[in-house]
Amino acid sequence: MIIPLHPRLTDSELKELEAIASEFGVRIQPIHGIERSIYAILGDETSQDLLNRLEGLEFVERVDRIQAPYKLMSRESKLNHHRIRVGDKQLPGDFCVIAGHCTIDPKNKAMFLETAFAVKEAGADMLRGGVWKPRTSPHSFQGDAKSLDILLEARERTGMQINTEVMDFEQLKLCVDAKVDSLQIGARSALNYRLLQQVGELTKSTGTRVLLKRSMHMGPVSEFILAAEYIVAQGNPNVMLCPRGTVPTIEGFRNSPDESITLLLKERTWAPVVVDPSHSVGKAVYVPSACLAAAGYGADGILIETHCNPKKGVGDDPKQAVTPDVLAQIVRDTRQIHAMAARYLPKAAVS
Ligand code: PEP
Ligand code: MN
Repeated sequence: MIIPLHPRLTDSELKELEAIASEFGVRIQPIHGIERSIYAILGDETSQDLLNRLEGLEFVERVDRIQAPYKLMSRESKLNHHRIRVGDKQLPGDFCVIAGHCTIDPKNKAMFLETAFAVKEAGADMLRGGVWKPRTSPHSFQGDAKSLDILLEARERTGMQINTEVMDFEQLKLCVDAKVDSLQIGARSALNYRLLQQVGELTKSTGTRVLLKRSMHMGPVSEFILAAEYIVAQGNPNVMLCPRGTVPTIEGFRNSPDESITLLLKERTWAPVVVDPSHSVGKAVYVPSACLAAAGYGADGILIETHCNPKKGVGDDPKQAVTPDVLAQIVRDTRQIHAMAARYLPKAAVS
């Protein structure tokens, strides 16, 4: 919808609009009110280039989008009833729990295996374990490719599906070749559009799940959804959206909890939402409540850092990992809350 700067466009201004519209295969329909006129765009108005051209005209005040800028992620897309499998759960519908170490210590395989068996016992559906880590300081432990073997062995021995983060093409290729079940794209990489495309390209025929975190630098939720669109546009629709806290503004929390955007995401897209309360609140004692909140907001799952001995962990585990017994309680409680929350989901958020 085009709102002109003045109450009504002149004939030559309207002609200029129409010329641009025809370049993009759309039409302009004037709607004349008593005081003002507005100009509807008839046809596919998702092109950002079209909107930029129109907004660049000196006689246009603004252009309001009516259609969502994402075609594949939107609820109008053919993918609206798509389901994603995590362990033996189907999302949306079921509730999944992904749990395990922030970081796998390559020197302590036994500890990761102990956690792996313990999270399985606690009722988790998928095992997480960081092989390569995005660390704020280049002097912190950056992860180790050897940990991929430990993660694969844990899958072999527990029978659990596995999730790990990839940050570049080389890591991506290694994980796809090893048939890692779910690739995590972290908050720092969520704005790396080339990586998102490569993830989509390399996984279009494998069905690999992709857990896409929300970058703390993303603004409106449409920016998050468009990042997912990059992956889906390459042919892999198995994307889960993961709010994980945004820029820290609440002293005491690692990031600002954003599990409440679950409802917005679910109204606007069909993709399952798996919330990460660990990185959101960033402190083990706050994590259980944040998990319950996520389930209450209608999330389809949670990603929780869990460690059999957090004090001996590396990366985030000493401060924010919960123990397997706490995880077991969270699994029981969130499943109940998820069932209750389903009653309150807005109609537009159900597929
Ligand atoms: C993680 O899951 O350990 C991680 C680094 O997450 P994020 O990308 O959300 O910071
Ligand atoms: Mn972590």
